[in-house]
Amino acid sequence: MTAPLDMAPLAYWVALAALMGLAFGSFSTVVAWRWPREESLVHPRSHCGSCERTLSVLELIPVLSWCIQGGRCRGCGERVHWRYPVMEVGSAALAAAAIAGFGPTWKGLAAALLGVALVPVVVIDLEHRLIPGVIVIPAAVAGLALMIASDPSGWWKPVAGAAGAAGFIFLLWLAYPAGMGFGDVQLALLLGAVLGASVVPALFLAFGAGAAIGAVLLVRHGAAARKMAVPFGPFLAAGALVALWWGPSMIGWYADRLG
Ligand SMILES: [Zn+2]
Repeated sequence: MTAPLDMAPLAYWVALAALMGLAFGSFSTVVAWRWPREESLVHPRSHCGSCERTLSVLELIPVLSWCIQGGRCRGCGERVHWRYPVMEVGSAALAAAAIAGFGPTWKGLAAALLGVALVPVVVIDLEHRLIPGVIVIPAAVAGLALMIASDPSGWWKPVAGAAGAAGFIFLLWLAYPAGMGFGDVQLALLLGAVLGASVVPALFLAFGAGAAIGAVLLVRHGAAARKMAVPFGPFLAAGALVALWWGPSMIGWYADRLG
């Protein structure tokens, strides 16, 4: 329940979070391209995917440079994929919303971290059926530390959330390796660390949405749908973002029905 940075107006911290989100989003676009291709994340400097020209410092400015250049490379005129500005704006929006909702607190930072980390996770899983451990594992460790700092006496809640969610997905992975990847186990670690008890509604939502999409595919494609690999990461990410905001009230609603 500590508020380490409460001497400036909230709008200032929200704007700062948006800028940090843009910077992290820009890095995420690099990770989303290079990590699945097993390239270094830091060397060489960012270059155009078609003409290999190294980008100038101005071209590295997120979103703005994309708009000024009309979404094209200045060297070869090749279109720059829309996912670059979308990932950057998405990261900025999620980080800003986290600080606006939870304040400039440890919990706000953990929520911002979760949102920013989920952007490349969704993009990479959709494109490559892989969960980037290089992002998820450090984010899980940082998320755990931030949530423990947020409520030191309740340190066991994020620990139990991470262990419980990862353990649950791990058992599913053992039972049915085709439906789940070990990357999903790692992702569950991050979700549980930041969400604590709210990881339960997050998993419910993810499995519910996954089952609904599976049913739609079955109706549309019949038996062939059984062989379609649907990445589960985006469902986990969507469930996590809903539960981040509404998890506690969902748990409250369910507890009321039980009582
Ligand atoms: Zn180019």
